[in-house]
Amino acid sequence: MKITSVDVVQVEVPAYDPPFVWRKGLSGSEPAVTGAWLVLKTDTGIVGLSFTGRGAILQDAVERRLRAELLGQDPLAREYLWNRLWESDRMERYPVALMSVIDIALWDIGAKAAGMPLHQLLGSFRSEIPAYASTVTYSSIEEYLDVADQCLELGFTAIKLHAWGDPRQDAKLSLALREHVGPDVPLMYDGSAGFDLLDATYVGKALAEADYLWYEEPMREFSVTAYKRLAERVDVPLMVCEVAEGAHMATADFIASGCAGAVRAGPGLRGGITGAMRTAHLADSFLLRAEIHGGGLAARHLCLAISNTTYYEALVDSNPVRRPAEVDASGNVTATTTPGIGWESEWALNGVPAALLEMGAVNFH
Ligand SMILES: [Mg+2]
Repeated sequence: MKITSVDVVQVEVPAYDPPFVWRKGLSGSEPAVTGAWLVLKTDTGIVGLSFTGRGAILQDAVERRLRAELLGQDPLAREYLWNRLWESDRMERYPVALMSVIDIALWDIGAKAAGMPLHQLLGSFRSEIPAYASTVTYSSIEEYLDVADQCLELGFTAIKLHAWGDPRQDAKLSLALREHVGPDVPLMYDGSAGFDLLDATYVGKALAEADYLWYEEPMREFSVTAYKRLAERVDVPLMVCEVAEGAHMATADFIASGCAGAVRAGPGLRGGITGAMRTAHLADSFLLRAEIHGGGLAARHLCLAISNTTYYEALVDSNPVRRPAEVDASGNVTATTTPGIGWESEWALNGVPAALLEMGAVNFH
């Protein structure tokens, strides 16, 4: 098989509705952006697709380097192409998510060629997985407790907080939530890199006291030493290496330092499906879990394929809480059953993007 064209189809993505806040408004839901589909056509008629919310960046990288890199190549040679991209990253310094966009489209082709949903091609481990409710940032402890009640009523069996990034308030909230839901609901806390070592230690002590399952990304992930010191000072498992560059190789250093209670993997930030699987296998050899970062179609396939993962991350983004469409009434998630990643099954619900129809990228292989 050969790649015969490499196209970027830009599309306007409306602002997230309703918008939400992240931490103390430092970031939040995306405004309207120009996203893009990466469309890889092949000489067999199979088309590989992948999407990014950073359309202009993808367009630039494709025009300058990636089209020439991919044209004429065998799209099933994913390991070769992953390593080619990795080498060119040395000069290009791609945004961390960009390699993933390419890799996901290649896996879409591979799974379509095999006639299987992606998780089956990867080697299915399970047919469904529980989702945890991953909250946005709400205004008060009382609102969080109300949201937690709604999540449990909707079928969720575990809850992860994204709070304000204020160590004292976040610690108070974490303790109040444990008190509120009782001892049996798994709880997690995600700091979204809001703290330095001193504040991260303060919050970590509260999370240990409240028996949290994991303490995720309390600090920026540039200093493995800071994470090592945090792990020595707190008694809650640290969930590490979500956004650090370096795919599975950065994860290796976190593990080697001894700080990792578990690690992040995922389709977006750890080198695509290829990088996520490498990360998961690396973690597995240390008997560590590799929990998938973020939701979406590709994440769902990884959740079904990776043995040492336990949850799907489902964003709870409003109050009243809406149950995300992919989560069932028991709080579980499964993957699409059509060959490939399954973009086509989403379109069956929401319509095919007009720009893809126009260029003949959609042929439902
Ligand atoms: Mg996170």
